[in-house]
Amino acid sequence: MKWKNINGTADRKVPNGYKSWLDFYEQKSGKSAKVCKVKYCTSNADDGAHVKKVNSIDNSWYIVPLCRSHNHDGDEFELNSDSDPVSVR
Ligand SMILES: [Zn+2]
Repeated sequence: MKWKNINGTADRKVPNGYKSWLDFYEQKSGKSAKVCKVKYCTSNADDGAHVKKVNSIDNSWYIVPLCRSHNHDGDEFELNSDSDPVSVR
């Protein structure tokens, strides 16, 4: 399944009780947010990015840890099968 980086989310505030979107991801998923979740990428994760499914009736927004080079508005990519993106709405 392909995922897409959502445009214009840089100003979206982290919910109360979380230090960052990476912290939000770790607490909700119970998984480490240290490494980028794009398939075959081994870079450190820099941000909890807002993503959504491509060509899906599910229009929910999700948070997933991405490295700087993968966190670009509009980019599409495959995620690791165990990436467990966390729904934000
Ligand atoms: Zn990456």
